[in-house]
Amino acid sequence: MEAEGNLQLLLQNPDLSADLKHIAEKVLNNKRISFDEGVVLYEQGDLGYLGVLANYIREKKHGDKTYFNRNFHIEPTNLCVYDCKFCSYSRLLKQKAEGWEYTMDEMFKMVTKYDGEPVTEVHIVGGVLPQYDVPFYQEFFSRIRAHRPELHIKALTPVEYHYIFKKAKIDYATGMRLMQEAGLDSIPGGGAEIFHQEVRDLIAKDKCTADQWLDIHEEWHKLGGRSNATMLYGHIEKFWHRVDHMERLRQLQDKTGGFQAFIPLKFRNQDNQMSHVPESTVIEDLRNYAISRIYLDNFDHIKAYWAMISRNTAQLSLNFGVDDIDGTLDDTTKIYSMAGAEEQHPGMSTKQLVELIKNVGRQAIERDTLYNVVTDFTNFEFPEESKPKYYKLPVIN
Ligand code: SF4
Repeated sequence: MEAEGNLQLLLQNPDLSADLKHIAEKVLNNKRISFDEGVVLYEQGDLGYLGVLANYIREKKHGDKTYFNRNFHIEPTNLCVYDCKFCSYSRLLKQKAEGWEYTMDEMFKMVTKYDGEPVTEVHIVGGVLPQYDVPFYQEFFSRIRAHRPELHIKALTPVEYHYIFKKAKIDYATGMRLMQEAGLDSIPGGGAEIFHQEVRDLIAKDKCTADQWLDIHEEWHKLGGRSNATMLYGHIEKFWHRVDHMERLRQLQDKTGGFQAFIPLKFRNQDNQMSHVPESTVIEDLRNYAISRIYLDNFDHIKAYWAMISRNTAQLSLNFGVDDIDGTLDDTTKIYSMAGAEEQHPGMSTKQLVELIKNVGRQAIERDTLYNVVTDFTNFEFPEESKPKYYKLPVIN
């Protein structure tokens, strides 16, 4: 395979430092790299070197396969009891006029809008408010499940679960079981930020700790559930904080095997309390994807949100370890646009997304949330008259 040839060539480079050569040999021999080696990659690995290693792993795991899914988002509220410094999305209670708080019926109507549409997943996540509690989500999940049994419910992060379980005075195991019984299928990866407490204290002081975040995922995995994990990078953290973050995830994954995808999230500095912090460059973004791919040897997938990083960078990322570029978003999420993402109105039809993947020589696969193949678009010809399809924007206050 070409990716292996590139790695062999790299190993013959006389200018490669002993440390980098040793890491490259480990990757070739399918050996796990250490914490210190992770830091070495961040400090010394240039883009070309990291790309060769990450693409070798990516192609060994997935060949050219590049996954996406068809989903829609529901964001119950953008008001939040917390005050994360990097958050461009939440409007604190004192800025209530700029916020929205959907009722159960309004949210259910958003679900029914997609009746008959070929979506496989609803992704539900938003701010934290007292009225969105355990009984609220039990009822909401149950209503979705009864209305459309095959729709995968991916909902809420440990930030929300920790808050609502505490309020309900139930432990994580009980809480996650209740959610599963109500219809929850999987947990998205948000709320992880940077695990190390010295960074967390500065950017997300009050919400769940790293241990609480990890415990909730662990309880969910024990129930047979799957989940994802994110890392918010490129702000005040040091490289070793990123490695520490991935190390904790790698350890839990060794224990449970319940994570599906790791999703590095680029810090954006628009309209938040960290606007003075510069954003990472595209080169750093690609380096970070690649190091994630190399470090997290027990994660099947590395995902990039095309809406967050732009379509061009998403294409590039496919050579740096990324094998999943999320969904045919239809403008139902404001999380990216409010943070200053490249895509202010993130909508892309299936045809456009497939072309984006095929144009860089990869194989477009529509998956469901659990990575079962829905459609392999490798030899699929879209009819000439096929028009790009956008779903309507749901009601927004
Ligand atoms: S990041 Fe999440 S928990 Fe933090 S303020 Fe924003 S919405 Fe609330």
